[in-house]
Amino acid sequence: MNNDFWGRVALVTGGGSGIGRATALLLASRGAAVAVSDVNVGGAEETARMIGDMGKDSIAIGADVSQAVDASAMVDATTSRFGRLDLAVNNAGVGGGRSPLHEYPEADWNRTLAVNLTGVWLSMKSEIEAMLEGEGGVIVNVASVAGVVGYPRHAAYSASKHGVIGLTRTAALEYARSGIRVNAICPAFTRTPMVEAAVAASEDRLRKLESANPLGRLGTPEEIAEGIAFLCSPASGFAVGHALVLDGGLTAA
Ligand code: NAD
Repeated sequence: MNNDFWGRVALVTGGGSGIGRATALLLASRGAAVAVSDVNVGGAEETARMIGDMGKDSIAIGADVSQAVDASAMVDATTSRFGRLDLAVNNAGVGGGRSPLHEYPEADWNRTLAVNLTGVWLSMKSEIEAMLEGEGGVIVNVASVAGVVGYPRHAAYSASKHGVIGLTRTAALEYARSGIRVNAICPAFTRTPMVEAAVAASEDRLRKLESANPLGRLGTPEEIAEGIAFLCSPASGFAVGHALVLDGGLTAA
């Protein structure tokens, strides 16, 4: 049995759904105690309950990562409960709206950047502080293929995810010698509630997304969680400032 994270303490933001939930469950199954944070407290509590049912330790934390006070309190709650922080997965995110750039609503732009980019920065600030006080750690930021290539009609989302990769590389360089490894993961369309909501109105749109992928399908949250777990694990010890693309070949062309 893989016990990579035995004795480790992990924090997963946006852990109440989709990729975050799958990651929280996988890290717990490999031995970590997991703090599950989400602005949707009910979702976080449900994930924590699922981890409890596995016989593993977990807490649910309500936090909006775009708010500095919440991001800081979320890390404090984790270290108060478990005494340390070893692994942080900054996954909380929103899809933003869908419209041509010149018509993109400013409020939507601001909210998307606040959650997807500022939220990662605020989370990292407190996580890094805790890791510097402890024995170092590992951070994985959830970006997107939209952080690697352009994503027409999703200017805010694409800009925020490109920003996450820049933030990841910069933090990786700043803290490599302090025992903190920082990497990012870049999934393509993955079958989560975020994508279900985007395609709900049109079965045709779902089929188009599937057929645009070289594998002919979307990813699963579990496949993305495996990549995150790899970046969290000692097996990826030489990966620093890397943006790991998991996209079924979408950006290979
Ligand atoms: P999801 O909607 O299922 O889960 C996102 C979670 O983040 C939700 O539980 C939500 O409540 C939480 N959240 C939203 N705003 C928050 C905030 N301000 N503070 C704290 N939590 C907040 O979506 P998902 O598909 O699992 O997405 C997870 C991450 O993966 C996101 O960063 C997303 O951009 C990224 N991603 C998803 C896909 C995909 O196709 N699903 C592809 C590439 C990247």
